[in-house]
Amino acid sequence: MRLQGRVALITGAGSGIGRATALRFAAEGARIVAVDISDSNEETVAEVKAGGGEAIGVRADVAVESDVAAAFNETESVFGGLDVAFNNAGIMLDDDTDAVATGEETIDRTFDVNVKGVLYGCKYAVEAMRRRGGGSIINTASFVASVGAATPQIAYTASKGAVLALTRELAVVHARENIRVNALSPGPLRTELLMSFLDTPEKRQRRLVHVPMGRFGEADEMASAALFLASDDASYMTGADLHVDGGLTAAYVTPE
Ligand code: NAD
Repeated sequence: MRLQGRVALITGAGSGIGRATALRFAAEGARIVAVDISDSNEETVAEVKAGGGEAIGVRADVAVESDVAAAFNETESVFGGLDVAFNNAGIMLDDDTDAVATGEETIDRTFDVNVKGVLYGCKYAVEAMRRRGGGSIINTASFVASVGAATPQIAYTASKGAVLALTRELAVVHARENIRVNALSPGPLRTELLMSFLDTPEKRQRRLVHVPMGRFGEADEMASAALFLASDDASYMTGADLHVDGGLTAAYVTPE
């Protein structure tokens, strides 16, 4: 029960990493605020409750500041405060390719969700955590913020680099307020987001050859890392970028 009595807001809770984390945090005693733009969020809330946990769902587009403000307001009014914010919602658009081909609309939407969405989440989390006397903020970045890919998604990659930069700065600014801010950088995962994009065995193999462990990661494995960062086990950790990537960012030549 590493999050006993804590209140955790999770964005992108309707699917993948966010859903797995909502379930894991609830199993560790947290009360959950599941935030998503999609109706699938209600399934996450129902699953948490079915497991004996407490949860509310809030429909919000993280790219819209007033939506994010409303989600954090509701968290404090329903549960009385906020301890953990997992700014995890993110998108990867189909027509996001190289710098020459990627259009303005794609770049704008990617940055609106992946960068502004995370920044708004941090802004309202900091305000709520100041009232609480501290807390833990976790921002989902990606391995692509650290290594270049010859299968480019330039807007997505740039947006995740921005997540790392803003995470570091927030960590330093708020370090003496008992607010920790860390990034979680997943490797390629077997979630809907990536598998619908890598829709042939060839496309999957093109990526897997670069993963020392030779497999995609699981959403549950990201939930375990998020739990560590959220809990007091990570009490001396802030400004970090936790790579949970099967060894990808450490590799030059991978095993046969
Ligand atoms: P997913 O597509 O399974 O889930 C993302 C969730 O975010 C969905 O429920 C979606 O409705 C929600 N969402 C999208 N836009 C939103 C918005 N504007 N406002 C609120 N909610 C919104 O994806 P996932 O694999 O669980 O990814 C979660 C995070 O992990 C993302 O930030 C992604 O970039 C990052 N990531 C994923 C992988 C991977 O391989 N899947 C790798 C590295 C990083």
